[in-house]
Amino acid sequence: MQHILQNPEIGESEQVNIDGFYGPSHVSSIIGSAPYEGFAATFRKPVVIAGFEPLDIMQSTLMLIRQINEGRTEVENQYTRVVSREGNQKAQRLVSEVFEVRQVFEWRGLGGVSRSALKIRDAFAEYDAERRFTISESNGTDVKGCECPAILRGVKKPTDCKLFGTVCTPDSPQGSCMVSSEGSCAAYWSFGRFRLDRLKEPAA
Ligand code: SF4
Repeated sequence: MQHILQNPEIGESEQVNIDGFYGPSHVSSIIGSAPYEGFAATFRKPVVIAGFEPLDIMQSTLMLIRQINEGRTEVENQYTRVVSREGNQKAQRLVSEVFEVRQVFEWRGLGGVSRSALKIRDAFAEYDAERRFTISESNGTDVKGCECPAILRGVKKPTDCKLFGTVCTPDSPQGSCMVSSEGSCAAYWSFGRFRLDRLKEPAA
């Protein structure tokens, strides 16, 4: 979240159009809601930890809109039936026993992000596939013309991509945003948002 807002690749002509963040429910069930508090205060962005069901998303959206309308930038927890402020401390102890933080990790569309991923500690090296097998690194570049990196960073929409709905569809995905049903391009395609956008365009 911090990297997206501070990404040095975003030029002055590009704006990150993100007013607030849904906090990820799986991650938050382990780490709790407290780790987001510094982010919300520093970057002046509201965060709502959101659950998975449609009603969770709707309520989380309402909570985010209320924060934005009232000028608040707090961490609120919609998913209280699973997530606490402190998180699952037993799981946190196990994770820190087995894993340590990587100095940097290359994320598709985001590039190298410092201290954003874990690796297996030396004591558990025999279970570490990275050490047991020779694995070459891949930079995971998307096809030419694919705007996934900019979409992931919140500076473009799927409809800004020339391949969207023509060359690239869920049946013939050209980039990571169209591959899984959770991807931004796949969601735009599946739920018709792009059709509404096109209906608003004046006839040629
Ligand atoms: S996944 Fe497809 S539609 Fe989305 S940005 Fe990439 S090429 Fe364009």
